[in-house]
Amino acid sequence: MKAMQLAAPGTPLVAADLPVPQAGPGELLIKVRACGVCRTDLHVVDGELTGGKLPIIPGHEIVGTVVANGAGAQRFATGARIGVPWLGYTCGACAYCVRGRENLCDSARFTGYHADGGYAEYTVADQRYCFAVPAEYDDVAAAPLLCAGLIGYRSLVMAGDGERLGIYGFGAAAHIVAQVARHQGRRVFAFTRPGDAGGQTFAKALGAAWAGDSSAKPPEELDAAIIFAPAGPLVVHALRAVAKGGVVVCAGIHMSDIPAFPYDILWGERTLRSVANLTRRDGEAFFALAPKVPVRTMTETFSLARANEALARLRAGRIKGAAVLVP
Ligand SMILES: [Zn+2]
Ligand SMILES: [Zn+2]
Repeated sequence: MKAMQLAAPGTPLVAADLPVPQAGPGELLIKVRACGVCRTDLHVVDGELTGGKLPIIPGHEIVGTVVANGAGAQRFATGARIGVPWLGYTCGACAYCVRGRENLCDSARFTGYHADGGYAEYTVADQRYCFAVPAEYDDVAAAPLLCAGLIGYRSLVMAGDGERLGIYGFGAAAHIVAQVARHQGRRVFAFTRPGDAGGQTFAKALGAAWAGDSSAKPPEELDAAIIFAPAGPLVVHALRAVAKGGVVVCAGIHMSDIPAFPYDILWGERTLRSVANLTRRDGEAFFALAPKVPVRTMTETFSLARANEALARLRAGRIKGAAVLVP
């Protein structure tokens, strides 16, 4: 099969011809129909996230068709369309797993990081972590739901139910979360890279009440803010933007250092927290909700061979909505 593989952090992905993997016990062999390109893939490729498998096939927003079932893997029939997310394995036995916080499992393994992912024609996945994909979405439209959607949704839940929601970094996750937030009756305040007029127009088209530069003060205090961009200084901007009792959620897996800030901007019972990974329950909840909003994803498609170009455009902030690879 054709695949795009990372041999070493900081180097481009290399096109490889590899044997089609085999589904082990409890696993499914999946023909990849579409695979979203997530900011986390860029952290892996750029070496900001280390400790994964090398070489690795990235990609954890996979929509595909089951083509073979490993021993005992009967949850999805051959031919079924399924989604494979970032969460690829949990132990089921640690203190986090038994308390419903499998996203924090000490032994968790992640797709496209510890196990080969979807930048390939085929992949295998543990059936327990796969999702049925709502019929309302075609393969490309569904791909960004698998991480930008799921972890974006978890971040929105963690932000509480405040009405005025700030979103810092208006990429794939933000464009989905903004639609869900509007559906919930919230007002969205979008913060983009300074001077990114295109991004601000895009945010307003998705219903944002206001859009401006990330360093700008919004026209009114916010109840909560979610930070999707991996830039530590945004934490300080967001804390200054939220009202007393407000919540600032850092939604990414990696962020540059947060500058020192005066205690005064945290005082007043403001909360600063991160969101890590997803649970399967998040996925079930989001996939039930998305068609009702209905969430519509905006995508830009690339062939598998153009994966490096998709990553470069994402790094430069030049993707409107989400990039999706189509093998
Ligand atoms: Zn565990
Ligand atoms: Zn992701």
